[in-house]
Amino acid sequence: MIQLRLGRMSPQETERLLAYDREHVWHPYAPMPAAYPSELVVSASGVHLTLADGTELIDGMSSWWAAIHGHNHPEMNAAVTRQLGKMAHVMFGGLTHPTAIRLAEKLVDLSPGPLTKVFFADSGSVAVEVAIKMALQYWRSQRRPERHRLLTVRGGYHGDTFGDMAVCDPVNGMHHLFADVLPQHVFAPAPPIGYQAEPDETYLSGLAELVAAHEGELAAIIAEPIAQGAGGMRFYAPEYLRALRDLADEHGLLLILDEIATGFGRTGELWGCDHAEVAPDIMCVGKAMTGGYMTMAATLCTDRVAEGIAAGEAGVLMHGPTYMANPLAAAAANASIDLLLSRDWQEEVDTIEALLTAGLEDARELPGVADVRVLGAIGVIEAREPVDVPAIQKTVMEHGVWLRPFGKLIYAMPPYVCSEDEVGHITEAMYAAAESL
Ligand SMILES: *Cc1c(COP(=O)(O)O)cnc(C)c1O
Repeated sequence: MIQLRLGRMSPQETERLLAYDREHVWHPYAPMPAAYPSELVVSASGVHLTLADGTELIDGMSSWWAAIHGHNHPEMNAAVTRQLGKMAHVMFGGLTHPTAIRLAEKLVDLSPGPLTKVFFADSGSVAVEVAIKMALQYWRSQRRPERHRLLTVRGGYHGDTFGDMAVCDPVNGMHHLFADVLPQHVFAPAPPIGYQAEPDETYLSGLAELVAAHEGELAAIIAEPIAQGAGGMRFYAPEYLRALRDLADEHGLLLILDEIATGFGRTGELWGCDHAEVAPDIMCVGKAMTGGYMTMAATLCTDRVAEGIAAGEAGVLMHGPTYMANPLAAAAANASIDLLLSRDWQEEVDTIEALLTAGLEDARELPGVADVRVLGAIGVIEAREPVDVPAIQKTVMEHGVWLRPFGKLIYAMPPYVCSEDEVGHITEAMYAAAESL
């Protein structure tokens, strides 16, 4: 009982659960059985995760971009509990509910002006599938079915389902494994790295040529605005995003922006596209939308896209997840957005940006480090070689921090509510990890 109250677990039970986990429970991008055991988290509160043995770690990943207000937040808990007392779920076909309608209102109000219609999806990957489907259905409705390919840039990540994988970076997305089943889209080189970098005219003219060469078969351009996430943690200059918008306009294409990682302030602006002062025709949001409480995402589009789809042979958008607009998730999202707007989130993110910049700068000089980059509340150390993930994790955990490196990247995106001291722990842990390379 005492152990339960402390949130701890007996070493025997911990061992038993971890052994079962390793043999039977698949983890993201992991072999089965697992190559090495996971850490057992028994509770989370504020910016801390508590492991079975009582160890506390700062969640330097915001549990993958999501827990921007930290865990176990009293107001978030209250909102979900209130909703639970009313209804946990109800089908969305033929029925609607206030929590979803209010959330749609918030998303329309907060998103760039032209986006007025909301489709609720049950994960980010599905939101991107829906965005692709919207674009393809739009052109089918215009009796231009030959406009069925997408153009994207390398280095992207848009989710793990087949439609999404086909627009992920071909190497990270392992296109060669699925070459015979993935639709073949058009890939431009990754935008040159560096938020502040001067625009590279050769890159821009190459991009323009590629779009022009494929114009007749392209439905849309799809990209992550300003910050490419899981495809390589690369930041690029707003000029390149403006170029994508201009090229889409010039050739009559739709622009899909995947704001699933960048949305809700992570890059220092509310939306990644705000850096370039452009608006997409279709936008995907997810991850931080529910403050890390539940899985939910949304695809927003303009009147033009919605009207185009409505005018087609089908008339309807051919998609409808079972758990569409789940009330519990929608309640979490409403609470998360209210919380975000109730605080000076921009100041919080700017402060974290300054702390990450200062705290990671010295890592640049380390022999194993190829690059250090920071944008908003995202800090990245890129190693020269792929890192030994368990070894790096051990090092950062010794510093009281949880991070999940991948490839050559040791990176953090702290909850916005991290104190100066907590961000300091994160940068110290990252420095120690980089030093050990
Ligand atoms: C995480 C992510 C997705 C996929 O979202 P899931 O909720 O994991 O399906 C899509 N696009 C971007 C940019 C992401 O970061």
